[in-house]
Amino acid sequence: MPDSNRRLLLRERPTGRIGPDTFELAEEAVPEIADGEALVRVEWISLDPTNRTWIDDAPGYLPPVQIGEVMRAAGLGRVVASKHPSYPEGRLVQGLTGWQEWFVASDQAPLLPVTEVDGVSSPSAYLGVLGMTGLTAWVGVRQIGKPKEGETFIVSAAAGAVGSVAGQLAKADGARVVGVAGGPEKTRLLTERLGFDAAVDYKAPDWQDQLRAATPDRIDVDFENVGGEVMDAIFARLNLRARVALCGLISSYNEDGAPAGPQNFAALLIQRATLQGFIVLDHFGQAPEAGADISKLIAENRLEPLETVVEGFEELPSAINMLFDGSNVGKLVVKVADED
Ligand code: NDP
Repeated sequence: MPDSNRRLLLRERPTGRIGPDTFELAEEAVPEIADGEALVRVEWISLDPTNRTWIDDAPGYLPPVQIGEVMRAAGLGRVVASKHPSYPEGRLVQGLTGWQEWFVASDQAPLLPVTEVDGVSSPSAYLGVLGMTGLTAWVGVRQIGKPKEGETFIVSAAAGAVGSVAGQLAKADGARVVGVAGGPEKTRLLTERLGFDAAVDYKAPDWQDQLRAATPDRIDVDFENVGGEVMDAIFARLNLRARVALCGLISSYNEDGAPAGPQNFAALLIQRATLQGFIVLDHFGQAPEAGADISKLIAENRLEPLETVVEGFEELPSAINMLFDGSNVGKLVVKVADED
């Protein structure tokens, strides 16, 4: 176990992608805990596209990370010393630990205890398919998009963390599922391994033709993760009374200024479509139901969790860009310490 606490602090706000000067490394002694506190060894850190939006100096659903602060991020770890009755030693906990190796939990800086489930191959699943990622997919599919048997469901960033779970949930609900992803390896993964009915490679020159061919009955549900011109092309193929679960707009996260709206906004009117944005933070109460549904599908081999693991705390600032160059498949996590 390291005898110091490495922390990555926001040094300057990036323009475009995160670069080598965006964060700086700081090192301090492992914190001492006082009464009412517990010391948590952070073992896994979740990398999420929204992390990039948190370091812009712009209004969002959480306040921006300030210069000099530890980078905000979800993490998972074990309590190693405790002077707080809710955090017994050995308990697995998760929450906004940030990019640091140790975290002091308290009533002012709470973490959530994790209920460990049999058969989970790695605790990182509690940050992914059995955590926020799975819950996000579940809310967008089961509560907003609600695909019916035989309807066409499309999801963008389909080979990523949320997209791969959303598509498999919609498939389990009987929809015809189409995924949009970058490159032939990812589109093959979707159709050959995850059971999607069709996939569109949005990086191919003929992607618009692929989209038309993949959606002969047009589109009833759009699980929107990306925005931009792919979203415009999807909106142009919406059916009457289509539903759009607006989950993310990753194509704009490295751009300055507000993301552009849909070019063909009128498509929503003409098709009497419903578009609903949602943020997973509002849905923690549904986590047990979502977790139970997803665990059942995994046990029945009807949902395959995908994960990309990067090893090493020092890799965090470069690994986050994998989300933007598309080199992750499924949930992107960084392993920062071994379990003892
Ligand atoms: P992913 O694992 O999907 O990783 C991001 C993927 O997005 C990349 O692998 C890449 O795949 C794709 N991508 C990156 N840049 C672009 C671009 N310019 N155009 C098209 N595709 C791009 O991340 P998550 O599953 O964690 O997140 C997916 C989306 O869901 C994001 O928009 C995120 O903000 C949102 N989200 C929203 C939540 C909410 O509460 N509303 C909660 C969690 C996530 P490819 O190779 O296919 O390009």
